[in-house]
Amino acid sequence: MHSDLFHQRFEARYTDGRTAGSRDVMVELTERGILIPQDGSAAPLIWPFGALATAEPLTDHAIDALVTYSYQPGATLFVPGPRFARALATLAPQLTASAERWRAASPWLWGAAATVAIGVFVWLAGLSPAHTIANMLPDKARTAMGRQVVKSMTDGRAVCRDDAGLKALEKLTGRLVAATHDGKAFNVVVIDWGLVNAFATPGENVVLTSGLLDAANGPDEVAGVLAHEMGHGLELHPETGLVRAMGLAAATELLMGGSGTLSNLGIVLLQLSYSRDAEGEADDHAIAILRDARISSKGFARFFERMSKTDGSAKRLGKGGLGGMLSSHPDTDERLAKVLRSGGYAATPALSEREWAALKSICRTSLPSAKAGHSE
Ligand SMILES: [Zn+2]
Repeated sequence: MHSDLFHQRFEARYTDGRTAGSRDVMVELTERGILIPQDGSAAPLIWPFGALATAEPLTDHAIDALVTYSYQPGATLFVPGPRFARALATLAPQLTASAERWRAASPWLWGAAATVAIGVFVWLAGLSPAHTIANMLPDKARTAMGRQVVKSMTDGRAVCRDDAGLKALEKLTGRLVAATHDGKAFNVVVIDWGLVNAFATPGENVVLTSGLLDAANGPDEVAGVLAHEMGHGLELHPETGLVRAMGLAAATELLMGGSGTLSNLGIVLLQLSYSRDAEGEADDHAIAILRDARISSKGFARFFERMSKTDGSAKRLGKGGLGGMLSSHPDTDERLAKVLRSGGYAATPALSEREWAALKSICRTSLPSAKAGHSE
């Protein structure tokens, strides 16, 4: 009956729930369920549609799907892009938003009284349960999430800590933070990674890659990227994305003060892409922050424009973070025009030439990731 939906193939990320890693797979929709190829000669897994759950109900606007299977606890399948989410909503209608609304209304699903209250609140709040929960997360939980994400992102990569470079980075970060008028202190970490990317992570953290510093043509470009990522942080987009990805149950546990299952958060965050609305919100923050910091927004526009072209540097962009921002949105021109329109105020360079040179060579001294984190 849904024959046109079958035998489509989708790039996905599969975690078996037993080993720490995850791997890229090409999954297929079949009459029997989602077919997941296994390594080597092992028979492929079949996940029947009736026994599936998703981290968040599938809506018409879903931009990805994080799927779990009742009979394989801990295993997850993350499929980016709206096409799979839409096909799955047809084949597994119990995963859609309308089915979920009925369930959210049923108290038994939530178990404890406290979670009932949250469930009802979320249900009443309607459209974005993940964002609602992200907003309710205590700072302690967001900090724990952020630390875990940074740790798993920097796993196996060095954290750059050249003294002069760190000073320049602090100065730039401080100038931008002062312009947020929010009182939230952002912590920015540079990791030695050739990929051109930047990520906002929970608890007001931003991770920049050395590849991005290499690709930037001046401090104003880095300032723009940082301001954009801070915008994501201020809107709690990383928290929201992770709550969506790990599911409401795990998020509720976090909310209750538990540590939840945080081990794969960094990998999940690397796969996330933000919606067009979220990118727009981050751009708006970036424009406002740059203006109030008196840093020209032209650098941001220039970097954005260069990276969105499919030249050599753009090919080095990874998924998620900035990669997601530039590759998954057709409205690049519109966004670029908005950033360019924001100019016209007096500005000074984001850093002096000397400070910029120091920032560029911040990876001259680095520490293995294991020693770089917080000491507690
Ligand atoms: Zn973004």
